[in-house]
Amino acid sequence: MVPPGEPGPLACGGTEDLAALEELDEARLLQNLSGRFLQQRVYTYIGDILIAMNPFQSLPLYEKPVSEKYHNHDKGTLPPHIFAIADRAYQAMLGHLATGPQNQCIVISGESGAGKTESVKLLLQHIMHLCKGNSQLEQQILQVNPLLEAFGNAQTVMNDNSSRFGKYMQLRFQRSTVRGAKLSEYLLEKSRVVQQDAGERNFHVFYYMFAGLTAEEKDMYGLLDPSLYRYISGWFRTEDVAECWKHKYWEVRNALDMVGFQEQEQVDMQAILAGVLSLGNVTFQSQENNGALRVSEASKGWLKASAGQFGVQEEELLKCLICKVSVTRGEQIQRFHTQQQAEDARDSIAKVAYGRVFGWIVRKINELLAENVDPEVELREIGILDIFGFENFVVNRFEQLCINLANEQLQHFFNYHIFQLEQAAYQEEGLPWEAITFNNNKPILDLFLAKPLGLLSLLDEQSAFPQATDKTFVDKLNSTFKGNSHFQPCRGHVLGFSIIHYAGKVQYASSGFLEKNRDTLPANIRGLFINSVTPLLSVLFTATVSRTGTLMPHIKAKVFPGTDNNFNSTRKQSVGAQFRHSLSVLMERMYSANPHFVRCIKPNSQKEPGVVDSQVVLEQLRYNGLLETIRIRRNGFSWRPSFEEFAERYRILLIKPDVPLTRESCLEILRSTELKDWRCGKSRLFFKYWHQELLAKSVDCLE
Ligand code: ADP
Ligand code: MG
Repeated sequence: MVPPGEPGPLACGGTEDLAALEELDEARLLQNLSGRFLQQRVYTYIGDILIAMNPFQSLPLYEKPVSEKYHNHDKGTLPPHIFAIADRAYQAMLGHLATGPQNQCIVISGESGAGKTESVKLLLQHIMHLCKGNSQLEQQILQVNPLLEAFGNAQTVMNDNSSRFGKYMQLRFQRSTVRGAKLSEYLLEKSRVVQQDAGERNFHVFYYMFAGLTAEEKDMYGLLDPSLYRYISGWFRTEDVAECWKHKYWEVRNALDMVGFQEQEQVDMQAILAGVLSLGNVTFQSQENNGALRVSEASKGWLKASAGQFGVQEEELLKCLICKVSVTRGEQIQRFHTQQQAEDARDSIAKVAYGRVFGWIVRKINELLAENVDPEVELREIGILDIFGFENFVVNRFEQLCINLANEQLQHFFNYHIFQLEQAAYQEEGLPWEAITFNNNKPILDLFLAKPLGLLSLLDEQSAFPQATDKTFVDKLNSTFKGNSHFQPCRGHVLGFSIIHYAGKVQYASSGFLEKNRDTLPANIRGLFINSVTPLLSVLFTATVSRTGTLMPHIKAKVFPGTDNNFNSTRKQSVGAQFRHSLSVLMERMYSANPHFVRCIKPNSQKEPGVVDSQVVLEQLRYNGLLETIRIRRNGFSWRPSFEEFAERYRILLIKPDVPLTRESCLEILRSTELKDWRCGKSRLFFKYWHQELLAKSVDCLE
């Protein structure tokens, strides 16, 4: 007999739960997934893990009647669904499932374009549906997405709406009601503001602005024809696209209103974006007589426009671009930039301005969604992680290195929960068990994170050393990691190195690593913006962030122009060190919560509906370790409560008073049910993933 809740093979739809497959090999797995996919069954379970194949078309899977069904539902009675994961996380947070109430996290992984961000939206939508209560806050939480996507997403080769930052959204609840939310963002790809690879675009918001602003508004912001701006390559305007962008623009403005941004703030923000675009068109040339650098004749107008849009003095902006000021023994020394340095200064001003606007939006969102709590009731949380997928391009830079490191961390988190914890428990508790090997990526994490000889530490060491170059950095890596099986030096004259990641080998071009890691903001640029007459810009560069994440504007200090000795760059942590820190904070949060996993799979590289490219899918199944995952879910015991925990929760099934929290009580409880296939260890019980639901049902019957 198939126990209720344990899904059996379906006649035509393939197996809904791969952990129930009798025979297991790659071919069968692939056949099952693609068979289901072609029947528009894009979701499949591996026990409690959800596999989601991107349909690349809108399917009638998410309407209200469907939402209604996935509410405190029995897993086996409904087809696999992303809503089911939301429901489980929500119920588990409330303590309705087998364990007591607990913080939850939902981890969504997959490569770029596999459907992570769409899955997050669906999860949020469904959780908000489940916790009906404070409808204004729920609406605000849902409105955050279009905002973040406009400023943080862009069209790439892999995905037309690719998230260029990672995010962790913590939904905070008291009892069943959502009370607030907190958003953390990771590593916005700022370099995209000034440069995009072939076939890619800048952040959406720039295009939306051109499509959405009226002619008068464009005039007011000093925006000319979009095709003139160097930073927005790939501008094209079929009527359809323009209509869509225009619509998106209004969606963003609406979202800004909804979330609570002031009109003036929105105006300032758009002026800053216009300033970034004009600045991008400023070019430089050397003067014939003395070789000093100046702005090329043709781009003087752009300089003026940019200064106007930023609300700063043209002279001061020019100074920041063409010369560097340093203070040596109290004396102020001005040195002209080379042309390259001037171009770099221009690009870093654009990047920092955009980055600050993005950071400000996130902080503002956090202020507006901060929880309004009843101090008597405990807060619980569901965290949802959507971090950029593994990337391997023709040219991989510092950004890809950070992204791939984050993915290594996630894979490690997955391995830890799915393989390590479980198998360690069998051993400790003396359960007979045939070990399942998995691809442990700890050595790769060590390669990155070890102190003092990990890649990030070496990068910091080199970044702090003025004479170091991208070449000396590579030399250092080559000598330190010689013989490391996850590291390969580059052959010939290529300046770079390769890392053998869990998901494959990636070659990194080391040029720009040191500079990107330092990411220093010269004090004169900071001074320039602090003195802007655009209030928002001034605040963005004056403010520091308090521990609670709120902005604390300082009194507007006159640090520029001229006489102060405040010219040295502000000392701060390197980008690598900051990233390492925020990753470790994130991991700490996640390791202390009860995890749910969604593995997104991209069925083909052409973004086509109804097409499965076996090779593309197989590769993802392999590096995700899905075959091993199925094996452990099939043979293993994913729920392992201690005797005490179990007896405490289920002694009511015995319908008698004073049941002690002991092994004997547990066995007595279990004998009173029809559960089969569980095991008893030295200090805990071992259950199949479906047992939880059966027990929950028995309790429901009593209540
Ligand atoms: P990722 O975040 O993994 O890079 P996205 O979530 O942005 O990928 O998905 C890429 C694209 O795939 C989306 O823009 C959308 O067109 C399509 N897509 C993803 N998931 C779904 C879904 N569940 N239904 C319909 N289309 C989807
Ligand atoms: Mg995404």
